[in-house]
Amino acid sequence: MDLTFSERETAFRDELRAWFAANDPGPEPPHREDAHFAWRRDFQRRLYEGGWAAPHWPVEHGGRGATLTESAIFFEELGRARAPLPANVLGLLLGGPTLMVWGTEQQKDLFLGPILSAEEIWCQGFSEPDAGSDLAALKTRAVRDGDGWVVTGQKVWTSGAQHAKWCMLVARTDAEAAKHKGLTYFLMDMDQPEVQVRPLRQITGESEFNELFVEGARIPDGNVIGGVGNGWKVALTTLMNERAGLAFFLQVRLRRLLDDLIDEAAARGLLEDDVVADRLGALHVKTEILRLTAYRGLTAVEKYGQPGPEGSLTKWMWSEANQELAQLAAELLGSDALVAGSRWGYELLRARGYSIEGGTTEILKNIVAERVLGLPRAR
Ligand SMILES: Cc1cc2nc3c(=O)[nH]c(=O)nc-3n(C[C@H](O)[C@H](O)[C@H](O)COP(=O)(O)OP(=O)(O)OC[C@H]3O[C@@H](n4cnc5c(N)ncnc54)[C@H](O)[C@@H]3O)c2cc1C
Repeated sequence: MDLTFSERETAFRDELRAWFAANDPGPEPPHREDAHFAWRRDFQRRLYEGGWAAPHWPVEHGGRGATLTESAIFFEELGRARAPLPANVLGLLLGGPTLMVWGTEQQKDLFLGPILSAEEIWCQGFSEPDAGSDLAALKTRAVRDGDGWVVTGQKVWTSGAQHAKWCMLVARTDAEAAKHKGLTYFLMDMDQPEVQVRPLRQITGESEFNELFVEGARIPDGNVIGGVGNGWKVALTTLMNERAGLAFFLQVRLRRLLDDLIDEAAARGLLEDDVVADRLGALHVKTEILRLTAYRGLTAVEKYGQPGPEGSLTKWMWSEANQELAQLAAELLGSDALVAGSRWGYELLRARGYSIEGGTTEILKNIVAERVLGLPRAR
């Protein structure tokens, strides 16, 4: 692994930095307001107009054909510029790449463009009340009806569903087949009365995610992705991209938070305290380890053509480091960090969910134990 940028990579980074310098995202609106999503959507449109919405996508689909390292640079710079994650992050990082692997030419023509421009937001309808970590236990049913499917069931924790036009929905199409085999991956149009979205209020006061009640919604055959009965494999492509794609943005976001906390501690004269300095130092080391592990993940993609299980390690370590940092912030800033709506108050509360979303820490530990370390399976 060589961490020095080539001339081409340096030029890519400089062009991007210049673009961010000319396109300040402006101050972040409070999380609990609709203005927050509008801010992210607006910034994605600006990225799109500048040709930067998805540099990692191939040129023929509206990307820049960026290499893996350039894509990492993109996320690092996005974080550095304090720009938001694009509103359609699930479409850009999960849905688009899944379509590129499994979609027909017609599906790619139809869906990829509006993902890039943020015209059509995507959400991920995987989890259900009784199927989270064990996704293959899902019960939502899709029954063939003429040239399409009728879907009935319930999804939960569906982030961004209130803004979404399309849902990546995994449903059971064969009740007789083995658990993982009877599933199909659909793109469901959210604009139909048979799909009800009910926002769930989180501890932070915002509603990022929702319950989704699907009562006889229709999906045409043309919106099956990757073939009937092949849903498990297609869903794995989505999940692999989820853990790998965000690694760089997340580690830069953590770095930014840590730098801000160090500034806060310095302003309060707390850096003279050896214990505080020690804990901040330990977080600095973890942040650097995360950066290097994210780069190591690139090597895995280069070798095997797809993200490896190392992405699980990064996500697990990231969520722990975040919780540790938010806890330290609360200890250092005292009641200032406990004010509702304050930045550190938000970080403290939001950090709890990091070790659940995108795979819980326990599940990630299982993956690392079995597939990275080669330990025997627990069950
Ligand atoms: C902020 C946020 C956003 C989300 N967004 C989405 C979204 O957009 N779309 C979507 O589909 N889902 C989304 N989720 C759901 C998320 O993927 C699930 O919450 C997660 O997969 C865990 O599933 P569960 O909640 O059903 O918990 P369960 O799977 O029921 O787990 C309960 C507990 O048991 C542990 N556990 C379970 N199985 C094992 C095992 N084999 N070994 C050891 N421990 C185990 C878990 O670690 C956990 O602590 C989101 C969640 C959050 C918090």
